[in-house]
Amino acid sequence: MSDPTHDPGPHRFATHEVTNQPPRLEPFDAWQLDAPLREAVLRHGADDVVLLQRYARWVGQELTELGFEANRHKPTLHNFDRHGHRIDAVEFHPSYHRIMLEAMRHGVHAHAWRSTHDGAHVTRAALSYLHHQGEAGTSCPLTMTFAALPVLRQGGADLVDWVRGATALDYDSADAAAAGKRALTLGMGMTEKQGGSDVRANSTRAHPAGGGAYELVGHKWFFSAPMSDGFLVLAQAPGGLSCFLMPRRRDDGTRNAFQVMRLKDKLGNWANASSEIEFVGAEARLIGDEGRGIATILEMVALTRLDCALGSAAEMRRALLEAVHHARHRRTFGRLLIEHPLMREVLADLALEVEASVALVFRIAAAVDAAPRSAHEAAFARIATALGKYWICKRSVGVVNEAQECLGGAGYVEESILPRLYREAPLNAIWEGSGNIQCLDVLRALRREPASLQALLDELRRDAPVDPGYHARLEELLAMLQADDGSLERGARRLVGGLAQLLQANLLHRHAPPEIARTFLVARLLAAPGMYGSSLPEDAPIALLLERALAG
Ligand SMILES: Cc1cc2nc3c(=O)[nH]c(=O)nc-3n(C[C@H](O)[C@H](O)[C@H](O)COP(=O)(O)OP(=O)(O)OC[C@H]3O[C@@H](n4cnc5c(N)ncnc54)[C@H](O)[C@@H]3O)c2cc1C
Repeated sequence: MSDPTHDPGPHRFATHEVTNQPPRLEPFDAWQLDAPLREAVLRHGADDVVLLQRYARWVGQELTELGFEANRHKPTLHNFDRHGHRIDAVEFHPSYHRIMLEAMRHGVHAHAWRSTHDGAHVTRAALSYLHHQGEAGTSCPLTMTFAALPVLRQGGADLVDWVRGATALDYDSADAAAAGKRALTLGMGMTEKQGGSDVRANSTRAHPAGGGAYELVGHKWFFSAPMSDGFLVLAQAPGGLSCFLMPRRRDDGTRNAFQVMRLKDKLGNWANASSEIEFVGAEARLIGDEGRGIATILEMVALTRLDCALGSAAEMRRALLEAVHHARHRRTFGRLLIEHPLMREVLADLALEVEASVALVFRIAAAVDAAPRSAHEAAFARIATALGKYWICKRSVGVVNEAQECLGGAGYVEESILPRLYREAPLNAIWEGSGNIQCLDVLRALRREPASLQALLDELRRDAPVDPGYHARLEELLAMLQADDGSLERGARRLVGGLAQLLQANLLHRHAPPEIARTFLVARLLAAPGMYGSSLPEDAPIALLLERALAG
């Protein structure tokens, strides 16, 4: 019999000691740890580095924690109140509102429009890049609000209050008329059931209702952030496809006549609500001319495409950070993971991809910034945005997946951020014009816009690497273009992907440590393409790449 007076002591049933698990990464300083980001931002003359440093600290602690909450508690749609009145309200977890408030206070959606200094777009791009590392779902309404501004400005005096509201450093989630709100957010409605890429197939009709107003009748098949205060919507007016601003509430505060039918059950992007809606005579006002809808809304789309590329670069960056951190602390077979030659090879290859993505995307942001002052930069921004959107968004899925594997089983578990990044990774390639559409857009620019072609060639030839392999590749791609007998469409991915990697090689040659630039050139342009970790040259600067990935 056991002795009932015997005290087993606290350790008697202890099953094991927890060892060999990495410490928490948070809190981390997303600015200080990220050498390629710091260099890109300073190189391109960001106008407010202190703001970035402040935001980076919030990203590395509170935003990351709130992001888990906002994704665990997905938004829910309430079509009716308890008395049967139609309300179509989307309920978000408080963490979502907190994230939006902090992001908008820091100007993630508006810095570029509020600052009058050169480099404001570079700062805003870096804010977006940082934000997306902490929580990607909220990037959608932040980006749409940012990108809607040039279109709202086309509305002139009529829309000054909208411009003011959309650039306020504040967040106001109230479901109320725009005029009474401290701050406004914007959404975008283009995609319909019968066609998204081909927006000319839009069937939503806009009936003139007198006094410059229109009534919309139809639907949208994808309509993200349906609780935004206003939406830029494409619809068929008597004069053709046109762009409209449709407020959520009418000026008198009553609900505008559109209904949220349901929320999409999405692979990822869970903090963000994406809906299907129907217009049943919704009040809207025309922006730009009737029949010029695509041209009008393209000003917005060009900027959302930039943010897709920024977002995908950010996903890769966050995944890399997690992987390097893990490898620095986890031991297998008697060594830290980061000491195993093959793991070093994989991590360094991922870091190389992030270096190239960051160099490219911030070069595009700098071109957007300088576009009003330089025809070259404007032409370069036009073509490089489509090129970067295609290439960087496509690279994200592979990089995030490899980084996830570096964490072993832990990378497949929700408590790490990797599953969330993995679900998010395909999205930027799909929306705002999927991969093929971007390639066709680049092809269109190369064929029909001499200024865009010239701007790209100038960039590719400027201070180019001397390696004959670089020039041979460029000539090969140009020969494809010159031989174009109308059948080049089929090879557009080869052409555009090739140009994107040449551009990355060029930018790294100009701006990165020379051994990194050389490694990119060899691994991406000269070697046969392979899995990450299989094509770095013998003399690749592994230690340097890893040090820059997690600096300090
Ligand atoms: C989560 C989420 C949120 C979204 N939110 C919004 C939103 O808020 N507002 C909005 O307007 N839209 C939104 N979208 C829609 C998105 O922009 C579209 O899904 C996208 O543009 C593709 O359109 P589609 O789905 O109609 O595909 P399709 O146009 O049918 O295209 C299908 C595929 O065919 C390819 N393709 C099309 N034409 C060609 C061609 N000529 N040659 C070769 N390939 C071609 C495309 O690249 C794509 O891969 C959202 C989508 C998602 C997933």
